[in-house]
Amino acid sequence: MELTKDQQKLVFLIGSYAHEKQTSDDQEHWFKDGPLLAVMYVLTVEGVFETYDYAAMSILCLDGYRRFMNISREGVDDLNDLREMGLLDHLKISTSQYGTVTGYRLTDKGREVLATIPNSEREGVNAIIRCSDCEGELMQIECENFERYFFRCPVCNCIREIRIFDIEDVSYISKAKFLRLPYRNDHNSVKEE
Ligand SMILES: [Zn+2]
Repeated sequence: MELTKDQQKLVFLIGSYAHEKQTSDDQEHWFKDGPLLAVMYVLTVEGVFETYDYAAMSILCLDGYRRFMNISREGVDDLNDLREMGLLDHLKISTSQYGTVTGYRLTDKGREVLATIPNSEREGVNAIIRCSDCEGELMQIECENFERYFFRCPVCNCIREIRIFDIEDVSYISKAKFLRLPYRNDHNSVKEE
């Protein structure tokens, strides 16, 4: 099984945020699609994902409203590919009357692949998701009022905006695909389907 560099980075990203299967079966420890897509967007804009692009898509949010978000279609395709390869588990979590959140984590096989990913692919991802002031502390991904995503360092509390809602080109909007994908990362309201 040969992974592309971007697929390796995606495995590393998910492995960084989702807890190991053995550690917990709690839903909180799955990497939710909203924060995942937000970080994938940053890594695309920053050129860490070398083959990804992004476009505005209309997303049904958990408050029942649609909003445009910058989504990497290539990244979503890779998520599906990694699932088909047996490297990713996913879990649908119903959160409200408006839909479900999908959580991701690595399978045992995904963990084996993670262990083989070279530093050259890890470094670019770490430069984005870890706080440079706090010895590489993993930044948390937070969402506020369905309108704003940002990284927050749990140690020094510094914040870095994730501009996933900044739609650059109006012509994109008319072409935008519609995708049902709630994105709120709300640990308190999750319940099993
Ligand atoms: Zn910090």
